[in-house]
Amino acid sequence: MPSFDKLAAKYKALRLNSTAESLTDIVRMAEENEISYLQFADMLVTHELSSRDKKRILKHLEEFDYRFQTTVTKKQISRLLDFTFIDNRENIIFIGTPGVGKTHLAIGIGIKAVEAGYKVMFTTAMALIETLELAELKGELKKKINAIIIDELGYLPMNRKGMFNLFQLINALYEYRSVILTTNKNFTSWGDFFFDDNVAVPVVDRLIHHSHIFMLGGDSYRLKQKTSA
Ligand code: ADP
Ligand code: MG
Repeated sequence: MPSFDKLAAKYKALRLNSTAESLTDIVRMAEENEISYLQFADMLVTHELSSRDKKRILKHLEEFDYRFQTTVTKKQISRLLDFTFIDNRENIIFIGTPGVGKTHLAIGIGIKAVEAGYKVMFTTAMALIETLELAELKGELKKKINAIIIDELGYLPMNRKGMFNLFQLINALYEYRSVILTTNKNFTSWGDFFFDDNVAVPVVDRLIHHSHIFMLGGDSYRLKQKTSA
């Protein structure tokens, strides 16, 4: 068996720094959830790719190319920028495969909201469920923010406790704060993701009630950049 330290050093040598840093977590989650080899291979590379994107700091809506991403129109997004969705505590959900622009749009809208004077928090689904003091966080969220962006629901498998925490949080935020969510999971597979439909159905109901839902299709922008380079 290779040691984590030695393995992490090899990933670093290949400049896969995010993977090296999260290796123990990723392996632990894979073991706990008994995922397939194929899913594991996908998890490693998706983790690295998305953390690299995050390092490219702010994603402004002005930089979004609607000629490449044609399953959403500029008009549809611009309509959200009067922020009645925040005033009315409505949610936005971006669904689609990796690289189609979900995080870019979520952050772009978030930046505009901040410029308009709203308080917006950005977090990933993974970071949220790993937050131990969830009760405290709920209080903070209710007091201090108008909207929360929850990025990447569904990329990494969650254990039951994580799922329960997330469910609690969504419950707490429901009709209090806007949630902007990005996910690679379609509603139909949310049942598997949340372990059983008894739990998934109320979560999904809460999320899609008063939601603006965008199903993004098309090719990955990341692959476009690679192939045209
Ligand atoms: P997702 O969250 O759907 O996996 P991202 O929003 O992170 O995808 O997009 C991946 C990368 O491609 C990011 O660097 C993002 O800024 C860029 N990108 C994606 N779609 C577009 C687009 N239509 N126009 C400009 N840049 C895009
Ligand atoms: Mg993303």
